[in-house]
Amino acid sequence: MTKFKLLNIITLLFILILFTIQLFFEFSIFLFISIFALILVAYSSYLFIGSYFICSNIYIKTICKVNTNKNSIVLSFDDGPDLIVTPLILNILKEKNVKAIFFLKGINAEKYPEIIKNIVEDGHIIGNHTFSHTTYLAFTNRKKYSLEIEQTNDLISCFTGQSPRFFRPPFGVLNPIIASVIKKYGMITIGWSIRSFDGGNCSADVILSKLKNKIHAGAIILFHDTNPVTVNVLKDFLDYLAQTDFKVERLDKLLNCDALSLSKC
Ligand SMILES: [Zn+2]
Repeated sequence: MTKFKLLNIITLLFILILFTIQLFFEFSIFLFISIFALILVAYSSYLFIGSYFICSNIYIKTICKVNTNKNSIVLSFDDGPDLIVTPLILNILKEKNVKAIFFLKGINAEKYPEIIKNIVEDGHIIGNHTFSHTTYLAFTNRKKYSLEIEQTNDLISCFTGQSPRFFRPPFGVLNPIIASVIKKYGMITIGWSIRSFDGGNCSADVILSKLKNKIHAGAIILFHDTNPVTVNVLKDFLDYLAQTDFKVERLDKLLNCDALSLSKC
């Protein structure tokens, strides 16, 4: 049972108990309304946290780090492919013989098929990051969200031969509708344990120093292959890793789980 279902049951029980007490003991209406409002506020706050903190596991099980006793970490790149940045990232990864996962936006995948071919040929894996990646997706219906996932899966399948199994929701936002769509397609939700914040205005040095401080075994690191600063950060970070015991592993290998489903293109 998901935490969301459990929360619904507990909230309903509280409301039932409240109404029963009111029915038999008739305490003040002000107190009754106050307690009722408190229950609703607590319920909504919990759901809000569950929606915006991808690792809360409230709606669906999300992998935010890999349980491993190896000093292995995973590199993930969101929002590409980008015409300029993704090829630069691929060059660095090739030079250092490091494999990663790219969570692609379908709308970009349509524009740059050659880059996706290179991602696959270089031995990286691909995950689904929806088609449009717009902010309204958090408020859309089941049919539209399904289309977002299906369109992107179809595009990716044309390069990999099979649908991707890994999915990362835009902005890490989940809700009961999104969770039900992910389940429908049998996909695995991937979050992160270290956010590089490479999408903002931080310098490469600041980002790198935060990464060094937060690194841990089984970490899944979130980068974006859309911002030029990521190129410098990645190069320096891989140089730093070479001086440590940490090794980069591909997500599917570390999880021991196939990155592709059985459905054909
Ligand atoms: Zn994104």
